[in-house]
Amino acid sequence: MIETCFINITKTPESRISELDYNNIEFGKIFADHMFMVDYVDGQWQTPEILPYGDLNLSPATSALHYGQAIFEGMKAYKNAEGEVLMFRPLDNARRLNLSAERMCMPTLPEEIFMQGLTELLKLDSEWVPPTKGCALYIRPFMFATDAFVGVRPSANYKFMIFCCPVGGYYANPLRVKIETEYTRSVEGGAGFAKAAGNYGASMLPSKLAQQQGYQQLIWTDGKEHKFLEESGTMNLMFVIDGKLITPALSTSILAGITRDSVMQLARDFGMTVEERRISADEIVAAHANGTLEEAFGCGTAAVIAPIITIGYEGKDYELPAVETRKFSNKVSVELDKIKTGEAADIHNWMAKI
Ligand code: PMP
Repeated sequence: MIETCFINITKTPESRISELDYNNIEFGKIFADHMFMVDYVDGQWQTPEILPYGDLNLSPATSALHYGQAIFEGMKAYKNAEGEVLMFRPLDNARRLNLSAERMCMPTLPEEIFMQGLTELLKLDSEWVPPTKGCALYIRPFMFATDAFVGVRPSANYKFMIFCCPVGGYYANPLRVKIETEYTRSVEGGAGFAKAAGNYGASMLPSKLAQQQGYQQLIWTDGKEHKFLEESGTMNLMFVIDGKLITPALSTSILAGITRDSVMQLARDFGMTVEERRISADEIVAAHANGTLEEAFGCGTAAVIAPIITIGYEGKDYELPAVETRKFSNKVSVELDKIKTGEAADIHNWMAKI
């Protein structure tokens, strides 16, 4: 049960919605009219606010900018045929934000502040949820340390905010990915399971190097031996081998994707065997050689399902079956789209209407 909290609302004097061309939305550059903001001061969350989207005024000594106490979430809202706004599994994002907060020594945010802030924000900015099929409103909740203090210690003050960007249909070209055997995204005992800003900063150089070698993304491996597969870029990694859905088991080095969980649930609904376990690069090479490697894909909020067509490992490229032939990933992708837009029954109660 979500309790209610009071939100101070200042509406924008003039909406910018008329500037939005639903048929030509550039990802991540156009922001909806309003933003949600709440400060953590003296050990307490203060009165939340919704205000017109705009710049922040920060001290150069803002702790998050130096020591990286900064976490975020990524989620989407959709419109159904009746024009109602549906959020996809928002409470799971609220919970994951709090897991990240604990790992980064930050205060947790009461779920009711997250949920109510989100709901009120989307009510005000519902026009910004594109009505077009395949489009969505991308939602970015985040929290960062705000102490103006240049000592290394957990900040005493924080800011939690949410802003939104409309996003167009995401056509995922089949990916060429490289199994990374030198750099590490995260290790057991590290912060890989947290959606912490620094994880992303540290992944950019290895990703850029892979791009220079002709791959769009990396498959991250375990930090000890670089033998076991973990994630694909900023997506969880899945394979269909001999009719079974196989994905790396969660650990402290892997982010527990909400799409990952949804795909596994739907696979079970389809009657498929699902295995969460360690998968080595050698196992994938062997499955490729004996013809049982049917599908490989990344899954996450942005692309939902991103098929992998080529896997590079130790200087050799392994080509996978054509995307059109992939029964599971095509079926699960369509099913997820239908659930999100209200076309298919929401038997797992994933959708939250605002
Ligand atoms: N792994 C990483 C490192 C990510 O950044 C993301 C995107 N949030 C995912 C996996 C997929 O998670 P989700 O399905 O919740 O978007």
